[in-house]
Amino acid sequence: MTEKSIILYVEDNHDNRNLVRRVLEAEGYEMADASNAEDAMKKINSIHPDLILMDINMPDMDGYALTARIKATPGFGNVPIVAVTANVMRGDREKSLEAGCDGYIQKPIDIDNLTQQIERFLVRQSHD
Ligand code: MN
Repeated sequence: MTEKSIILYVEDNHDNRNLVRRVLEAEGYEMADASNAEDAMKKINSIHPDLILMDINMPDMDGYALTARIKATPGFGNVPIVAVTANVMRGDREKSLEAGCDGYIQKPIDIDNLTQQIERFLVRQSHD
């Protein structure tokens, strides 16, 4: 096993943050989280995550706007961002991709398949 991948989860819900942290730490990832856009930008700059999980519904700046901002930030445009959202209305997947998200995970999060879903994006990045 090489260096642990660092994952940043941006999510305003405390219970979701704790759940995902617990699951992914148990799988050997190094976890960080942020509850809003400002905190997320600080963490991105300090920890340089390998992948970002992005809640969409957040107060202040939503996940679409924050994704667009990160993708436009020099040095971070290539960090994979995976939207995590309960928005199941038609068009939400497209909106995530338009904002620059690399993929989409639906809430409620399928804990048993979370690692598998995340690995897809980490593997793709390492082959670039
Ligand atoms: Mn939320």
